[in-house]
Amino acid sequence: MDTNTKTNGKIGVTTENIFPVIKKFLYSDHEIFLRELVANAIDATQKVKTLASTGELKGELGDLSVRVELDEAAHTLKIMDRGIGMTAEEVDKYINQIAFSSAGEFLDKYKDKIGSIIGHFGLGFYSAFMVSDNVSIETLSWKEGAKAVKWTCDGSPEYSLEECDKSDRGTVITLHIDDESAEEFASKSKIQALLSKYCKFMPFPVVFGKQTQWKDGKEIETAADNVINDIDPIWTKQPSNLSEEDYDKFYKALYPMEEDPMFHIHLNVDFPFHLSGVLYFPKIKERMAVDKNKIQLYCNQMFVTDHVDNIVPDFLTLLHGVIDSPDIPLNVSRSYLQSDANVKKISSFITKKVAAKLEEIFKENRSEFEQKWDNIKIFIEYGMLTNEEFCNKAVKFALLKNESGKYFSLDEYKTAVELNQKDKDDNIICLYATDLQAQYSYIEAAKAKGYDVLYMDCELDSHFVGLLESKMEKCRFARVDSDSVENLIKKADAIKPELSDDDKKALDELFKAALPAEGYEFTVEAQNLGENEAPVLLTQTEFMRRYRDMAKMGGGYAFMGSMPESYNVIVNMEHPLVKKLWDSKDPALAKQLCSLALLNTGLLKGKALTDFIQDSYKLL
Ligand code: ADP
Repeated sequence: MDTNTKTNGKIGVTTENIFPVIKKFLYSDHEIFLRELVANAIDATQKVKTLASTGELKGELGDLSVRVELDEAAHTLKIMDRGIGMTAEEVDKYINQIAFSSAGEFLDKYKDKIGSIIGHFGLGFYSAFMVSDNVSIETLSWKEGAKAVKWTCDGSPEYSLEECDKSDRGTVITLHIDDESAEEFASKSKIQALLSKYCKFMPFPVVFGKQTQWKDGKEIETAADNVINDIDPIWTKQPSNLSEEDYDKFYKALYPMEEDPMFHIHLNVDFPFHLSGVLYFPKIKERMAVDKNKIQLYCNQMFVTDHVDNIVPDFLTLLHGVIDSPDIPLNVSRSYLQSDANVKKISSFITKKVAAKLEEIFKENRSEFEQKWDNIKIFIEYGMLTNEEFCNKAVKFALLKNESGKYFSLDEYKTAVELNQKDKDDNIICLYATDLQAQYSYIEAAKAKGYDVLYMDCELDSHFVGLLESKMEKCRFARVDSDSVENLIKKADAIKPELSDDDKKALDELFKAALPAEGYEFTVEAQNLGENEAPVLLTQTEFMRRYRDMAKMGGGYAFMGSMPESYNVIVNMEHPLVKKLWDSKDPALAKQLCSLALLNTGLLKGKALTDFIQDSYKLL
């Protein structure tokens, strides 16, 4: 191409006037222009390095930093690299034709699906026009004898191309930021923030102005470059060359406000796809308040998004860290992503890796695993409940903790309680408490029988015990307060007190009159529990309570929530006070015995409980 004289031309247009479309396109995501331009500069720099390594390009490469400069007053932004540059022919080919038509195609394809594209890759160089009314390229190719050229375009499909003075290899892109965008983008702090967001780990130094320091109450520039990025982040290194401190330091760099993580998992795979990264189990302050969008997705060290749902399984979105993969298709819709074969493989790979790491700590460092358990339990339970592949692995290392703080694997627990906690039908009954204070008397009663009581205080546990029942053969779970201790683990058919129908009716009336009248449903039942057991017990069946808990978590049992709470009133006919009551039918004594039972359940609290007890005194 002859560029001795200025040439004007029309960009290889397919759609007349694409620029207004580009400007409107992805309105909320205009900021990605900077990532696209810096990424092109990095690519060109990478190519220069490759040419030097093959010997095609001789001599010193010099400084390979990509420099970004902003003139806040003039509204100009420059992106400068010392990469391969372009000849006039290449500008014509890559910018006038290919880049333009690929931008055009991209827009045609995705115009209607703006919200559904992640990363918004592919718009490339032309995304500069989202924020500019004039863009120029000054470039000198690495090729011997190449002449520097300048391409300019003001946002119409017309461009000009002419020779220019540029003696240094590489490319300078100059944007004149349009008036509409200037307020947002002609700002040093905004550009600094965008570079930090998108370029933090790009593989060549990205320099934005100079470092500053405070002197005599003023911020002044120093001679040192303000380098935005860490060019070789830890996920690009070999785990064997890294220490725990390196991983912790990297975590702090990613999340300055977070506490140190529990542990990390270094991902590294080349086949059948490329993926590297480091995932962390964060220390959680408040359960279920875990922030889900903390994993950052990169493509060859270029930030893409921090919305990785559909790429990693749901339960792993609770982890923090970085995933870098050139094999995740980026310019496709999210729903497509889910069905992509590579993404499925990636998701399954990450699941396996996480399970393997957990199993490794469990096997090789049991005490460390136990120390961390309370903190990581919610991830593991959530993972087991939502991901079968993970669940099948996790049954080997999931732990149960009892009320005295001892930990067991599922198999160990079964063995530990098998002898003593089998019922007459050969089922192992695992007892658990959810609140050590409120269920104290029930726990003590179970312990007095030589039973072990698990402590399950996690929000997911009502779902989780159901899962355990399906995974642990012949095991049933029952909360300690779901029946009298005799009946929790039925060793033989209980010998029921012999009561006539009239007696049953009298007992029923006596207790129902003594208990709160509204909001609850009581079923009165006589049992022989021996004179040392409590006179009256209030219990809620395991089934009823578990479904109620699940309804609270929104598990699709909402109808349970609208039913009155039902409790069983177990009357121990062998207790001396009950015998006295049975003889006297004294309503005051009935109320006293019920107050005692209520104190042990937490069914009534605060004012309601105080009122109830005071009422019972009035009867005395
Ligand atoms: P993509 O980068 O996806 O190919 P772009 O529209 O961003 O699409 O760029 C089109 C082409 O223009 C690039 O492939 C490259 O050949 C060339 N190019 C863009 N920026 C530069 C640059 N800074 N240095 C050298 N060549 C560049």
